[in-house]
Amino acid sequence: MMNPSYLLLDGKAVAAAIRKELAQRVARLKALGVTPKLGVLLAGSFVPSQIYVRNKERACAAVGIEVETARFPDSVSIGEITDTVRRWNEDANVHGMIVQLPLPGRIERDAILELVDPRKDADGLTPANLGRLVSGHPRVLPATPAGIIELLVRFQIPIAGQRVVVIGRSELVGKPLANILLMRGAKGDATVTVCHTKTKDLPDICRQAQILIVAAGRAGLVTGEMVTPGVVVVDAGINRTEQGIVGDVDFDSVAQKARAITPVPGGVGPMTVAMLLVNTVMLAESRAAVQ
Ligand code: NAD
Repeated sequence: MMNPSYLLLDGKAVAAAIRKELAQRVARLKALGVTPKLGVLLAGSFVPSQIYVRNKERACAAVGIEVETARFPDSVSIGEITDTVRRWNEDANVHGMIVQLPLPGRIERDAILELVDPRKDADGLTPANLGRLVSGHPRVLPATPAGIIELLVRFQIPIAGQRVVVIGRSELVGKPLANILLMRGAKGDATVTVCHTKTKDLPDICRQAQILIVAAGRAGLVTGEMVTPGVVVVDAGINRTEQGIVGDVDFDSVAQKARAITPVPGGVGPMTVAMLLVNTVMLAESRAAVQ
């Protein structure tokens, strides 16, 4: 039987609230003659990337951020990509940019990210900005980890002092997330364990979590037997199955024990897009030197 008492961590609703707040900040910037602008580089025909970019374009439009999407076929050359990044680096009207990942196979993502001006890095994924995060002085936070933290904060779920288990150690999600959770302050100060494919006894470690955050990309990885009653569960996974899009967590069995849990879709996904907007507006504000 379902436990009716769990709190659904509704990322869609929180993202809508964030967009409302951002629309006001964008209006203030526009009053100063500044229209925040985001460059989006989309290379290749990977279908999920097309969908993500469309969602990002729509969300930007909803808050008044201008978007320039540079679309390239799978056959794109490295030169075409680097030219675009360099052009946006130079263009004073562009405040932020993202390179939609993954890039077509031949193109080395790290080499491209190295070229992005860290002051225009709306995804917080350049080595400079990841380095600042690790050093405890971040400028922009990667959107998915930032969205996960913001979701917990907005639902007043304490993080400080909690035992947090993160499944996944990617540069995109797990690793920056663990670093945010380790920062000093209310959004951090957690005791963090990071698990990955070589982790032994994953179920035992998951059962120790007061907050369990899953970003592995494996449908059904976390089941009800792997969690302790009262746990807070955040599922970043996006897996395309015959049943549609599902996360990494078996929602029904885990929700029976959880105090709070994200839905998939409608949890981390919309928060990721919202935090991209937050980053873009913040970069535009810091350039316009308004608070
Ligand atoms: P990735 O493939 O780069 O990394 C997956 C990580 O999970 C790896 O570190 C791996 O060690 C770990 N892992 C995989 N299987 C495991 C297992 N059986 N046990 C323990 N650890 C395991 O993926 P990523 O880019 O970090 O994305 C993870 C998931 O989050 C994917 O489903 C992706 O689609 C999703 N994602 C969602 C958003 C969003 O906006 N909601 C954004 C980014 C990624």
